Amino acid sequence: MHSTATLICSLGHAATTDELLGLGVTPSLLRTAIQHGTIVRAARGVYLCSHADRDQWNAATAHSRISCLSALRRARVWAGLDRSLHLQLPAHTGGSRPGRDRSGQPIRFHWANPRFQGATQRSWLVSPMEAVWQAIHCLDEEHAIACLESAVHEGFLTIDQVRTLCGQAPARLRGGIRELEFTAGSGMETVVRRRLRHVGYSVVAQVSVAGIGDEDLVVEDCVAIETDGEKWHGADRFHADRIRDLKTEALGRRSIRLTHDQIFYEWETTLAAIARIVTDAQRGRSRRFGRILTRLDDPL
Ligand SMILES: [Zn+2]
Ligand SMILES: [Zn+2]
Repeated sequence: MHSTATLICSLGHAATTDELLGLGVTPSLLRTAIQHGTIVRAARGVYLCSHADRDQWNAATAHSRISCLSALRRARVWAGLDRSLHLQLPAHTGGSRPGRDRSGQPIRFHWANPRFQGATQRSWLVSPMEAVWQAIHCLDEEHAIACLESAVHEGFLTIDQVRTLCGQAPARLRGGIRELEFTAGSGMETVVRRRLRHVGYSVVAQVSVAGIGDEDLVVEDCVAIETDGEKWHGADRFHADRIRDLKTEALGRRSIRLTHDQIFYEWETTLAAIARIVTDAQRGRSRRFGRILTRLDDPL
């Protein structure tokens, strides 16, 4: 039989007494593992192995599950800007709960019985459907829509599962749901695509360009916009990204790259810059077409 610590590892580094008893761990084996320091009892009936992270410790001590935005972040699904820990407790659970953990991280509690159970649900983590369901209630419209698209892109939910959630989503999300398209490679891309369309630009997502691959967004058919997320654009991507930018420019299309902060904290300035670049690109294109038409009109 596997060691108690290995069994806890197999359950995601946290387990309840019931789960462990169900796997054949006896109370005496549990005591021995604690004495040897291979596992810890974080709270009554909850055990962690040495790999458990801070969120799992907080969930265990609060007898709750990691849910909502925090469950999404673990799966690299877009979860907006709120970095607090979101934990779910069964509805009607009594007792007061701290608003922060020992290190000062804010904690938001949701009292709700799971609406969507799933095979991947754990004693310490809600199912993917439950996590996204909670998140679209916690997030504003912009981030909720980005979260739904990202959940599909990251393989966290299928399009059919997202459709199920959309059918029961709050009324405030209906407009955004009609605009859903599962082209975005990141939450930031969804946000930029929607914001630009809402101010009247024609924006096409994931345009396939020979020799370059897919471009995140193409505005008015003349400016390519890439959104630099932490995931895809680390230091090792720097050189590859620059090669790609040069190839795009060589095809006569302006190429710009937006960072997280430019999108979320400096949007007014960013939008003004995009507007200027698009206008310049359109003028350049009309001048080129003008010259071609003039040449065509020239008598032979
Ligand atoms: Zn482990
Ligand atoms: Zn939440």
